[in-house]
Amino acid sequence: MKQRGRIKAVLPRTKYSNLVTEASVIGCYDVLRTVYPFCDWDLPNEVEVTVLDDVDAYGEFIEPNEINISKALVWDINDLMRTVAHEMIHLKQHHLGKFDENNPHDKLFWRMAREVCLSVGWKQEGF
Ligand SMILES: [Zn+2]
Repeated sequence: MKQRGRIKAVLPRTKYSNLVTEASVIGCYDVLRTVYPFCDWDLPNEVEVTVLDDVDAYGEFIEPNEINISKALVWDINDLMRTVAHEMIHLKQHHLGKFDENNPHDKLFWRMAREVCLSVGWKQEGF
């Protein structure tokens, strides 16, 4: 068949990522809970999720069990998984009674982050 013209596949430009939805965040949370070390952390079956349009932070954790992800900054599935995993570490800190809002990325955080990254095959830089 002869090609009559060029067909351009153009993705619509959007201000926000269509990837970040309540369902996709919960889906990442559920998947991550099946793998080490999260599977050993006894995390809650359900978390509160809000999709933000924050341009300053990829995600945030709010005590006691809220994970919020930015559709303005998270544009690929790897960033989505990594951001949910990051906030899950804060959730675990909270469960241990060791989440400090003023210093969330303390030694404990980085010890758990190292364990997560080694386990799932992520580089720790930028985590
Ligand atoms: Zn953090």
